[in-house]
Amino acid sequence: MVLRPPARTATATVLAVLAVGGLAACRAHSAAPRSAGTTPPAAAAARHRPSNAPGDATPSATASAPSSSPSAPPRPSVSPLPTSQAAGALPPVIGRIPVNDKVVFITIDDGWEKDADFVRLVQQRKIPLTLFLANMAIKKDYAYFRGLQQAGAVVEDHTMTHPYLPKLSYARQKQEICTAADIYAKQYGARPTLFRAPYGATNHTTLRAAKDCGIKAVFFWREVVSNGRIAYQLPGGLHPGDIVLVHFNPNMTADFKRMLHTIQKQGFRPAAVKDYLPATYFQQR
Ligand SMILES: [Zn+2]
Repeated sequence: MVLRPPARTATATVLAVLAVGGLAACRAHSAAPRSAGTTPPAAAAARHRPSNAPGDATPSATASAPSSSPSAPPRPSVSPLPTSQAAGALPPVIGRIPVNDKVVFITIDDGWEKDADFVRLVQQRKIPLTLFLANMAIKKDYAYFRGLQQAGAVVEDHTMTHPYLPKLSYARQKQEICTAADIYAKQYGARPTLFRAPYGATNHTTLRAAKDCGIKAVFFWREVVSNGRIAYQLPGGLHPGDIVLVHFNPNMTADFKRMLHTIQKQGFRPAAVKDYLPATYFQQR
């Protein structure tokens, strides 16, 4: 038997580091039993890295031009505009949206903790949020997230039971993604078109399943926030268009305020994904 050292490209290493951050946070709040594999999910995630690996949102085809219709709302400058609209193209996996403005995109995962003060904070400060919710974490209180939705948050897909997807068949992965999308369509009035994989772990099958569920982009991240502290994956702090990963946690409101303060101190502001991704990313099927 020949033991081959694992091929670890710089990108794969970065991915493993990124995945560990998300994994730790996800694991702490997931009641789902993890598969008894011998491969650490982070390392496996790196090995199962999709061909369009997490990173900048790069166009898979010619970028679509912003609408020039006078009735269309003005869009901030985005260069280049990523698109997933090429025929048969799998959804891109993105950790950042290419923008010129000093904005970041705050995403919050899972949904285990439901802090009423946090809804008030989001309302008062008008903080744009993208929520990647796991159905098992929210099914006892869908209404809580309706409150956040009314404050401007967008509800997106994070599976039914928060499994480690690369170990599952196409049919099981599709069921995890599609069923959550179906439920959120009913509960929140809009079918998710964005998806985040539990632990950030995807393989080619995940992307096929996501596409077949109507998902237009798979969100990874550039920063992980724990207890209000931002862990940077690149030198130099925040970068324009970074996707920031937060989890619904105890002490949510105070931690979130601390994170907002750090973002603002660097001259950044949270922005809505809808204002920076082409409208095609939000077209429900
Ligand atoms: Zn999660």
